[in-house]
Amino acid sequence: MDVEHDIRAIGHRLAEAFPRSVRHPIRALDGKAMDFTSQDEELRAALFRFVDVTPACTSPDDLARHLVGFLEEVPDRPPPLEAAMRMGNSRAGRQALGLASAAGVRHMAQRFIVGATPKDAMRSVGSLWRHDIATSVDLLGEATVTTEEADRYAARCAEALEVLSDAAAGWPERPVLERDAAGAIPRANLSVKVSALTPHMRPDAPEVGREDAAGRLRPLLRQARDLGAHLHIDSESVDSLETTLGLVFALLDEDEFAEGPDAGVVLQAYLRESPGQLGQILEWAERADRATPLTVRLVKGAYWDHEVVEARQHGWSVPVFEEKADSDRNFEVLTARLLEGRPHVRVAIASHNLRSVAHAIARNRATGAADTEIELQVLRGLGDDLAVALAEHGMRVRAYSPVGDLVAGMAYLVRRLLENTANESFLHERASGAELDALLAAP
Ligand SMILES: Cc1cc2nc3c(=O)[nH]c(=O)nc-3n(C[C@H](O)[C@H](O)[C@H](O)COP(=O)(O)OP(=O)(O)OC[C@H]3O[C@@H](n4cnc5c(N)ncnc54)[C@H](O)[C@@H]3O)c2cc1C
Repeated sequence: MDVEHDIRAIGHRLAEAFPRSVRHPIRALDGKAMDFTSQDEELRAALFRFVDVTPACTSPDDLARHLVGFLEEVPDRPPPLEAAMRMGNSRAGRQALGLASAAGVRHMAQRFIVGATPKDAMRSVGSLWRHDIATSVDLLGEATVTTEEADRYAARCAEALEVLSDAAAGWPERPVLERDAAGAIPRANLSVKVSALTPHMRPDAPEVGREDAAGRLRPLLRQARDLGAHLHIDSESVDSLETTLGLVFALLDEDEFAEGPDAGVVLQAYLRESPGQLGQILEWAERADRATPLTVRLVKGAYWDHEVVEARQHGWSVPVFEEKADSDRNFEVLTARLLEGRPHVRVAIASHNLRSVAHAIARNRATGAADTEIELQVLRGLGDDLAVALAEHGMRVRAYSPVGDLVAGMAYLVRRLLENTANESFLHERASGAELDALLAAP
């Protein structure tokens, strides 16, 4: 069977559905702000710095002064920005400019953040479900530095599990989203970050962070088990990875969790060590032989710049691939190995790259399995076109849906903006008009 031929055919069929998805009810925004910010490096940097300071600004005047200050550093400003700068010269102008720019940032944030609280988010999450798209809710709030913050994050997770399970009970049946060959798939799905569950996550003393996080993760696992919900543990920077996987496996090995909950971990294909990590995950999953298979979400990794800078600063060897094609190729190798790891694992492919997604679908078909034996995952706001196209083609698709206020969400928002506008990103290349066949070629 010619897998490359299938990949091209699947990629073209999915891409044909993209224009239709623009009019689809789940599409929030037309992406114009994104195209604009990617035009010019200096402008892009100025606007990101502005987005970053927005939550700290105390008034429209304050916002306008910051915006004008950042834009002054951009050498060739397009006419609309010149006009904005002129508004900064008067008090009334700054008021108008500040209000308009705050609305712009909020609008942009709403594309990625589905609600300020779990309750607010249920409208969006329920609507996605009705349009054949499952979700994984993620509570925003980055670095946890105190015990109180860790307790608060754990309490918010507990509340989200409750709210989600309550709401999910009233959703209509969606067989593709709720069942595969391994059995029932929970409707309620929450993604959590171990670094937010403890202020003591330190690579030089991993057992302290692990113990502390275990004290907050264990009650969440119990709650998820009792509610029949899925708990997914996200991956973060490489220095926390061993602690995270060690913690999850140790807890799931405890007797009380043998029958549940449904749980999952994340594998980052940009890590040079990821093939070895996948080996450990598959070995554990086979040995643990839990009532529901462990879901493994394969991603490329969201902390590429951080990992490179951190390693170079300390003179360490860089833990991530430095050529984009190496991450892409490794993603495909890991996809194939994961598919072979069934039935001990469920496979979730999380990417907005049409090649990576079409490759996973074609590889899965080549094993003789039904399309619904893999899950495709996207980030809400970045992968909406793809999610709609996949759902239209009868695939099981899940949108990772962040919940939180703008301040807590800022680091997330900036990461997504960077991802969307990076020159080597698939989404950027596609927006720049690259030929579909070139984008679907083997990396
Ligand atoms: C549902 C979902 C959940 C996610 N959860 C997590 C998570 O828990 N942890 C996490 O880290 N990320 C997570 N991500 C984010 C994910 O890692 C990024 O969305 C992803 O990296 C973007 O990859 P892509 O295949 O969509 O796009 P592409 O454009 O194909 O790939 C971009 C990626 O390639 C890699 N890359 C870029 N430049 C280079 C280079 N020069 N050399 C080598 N590699 C390079 C980077 O990983 C970059 O993000 C999640 C994504 C989704 C969709």
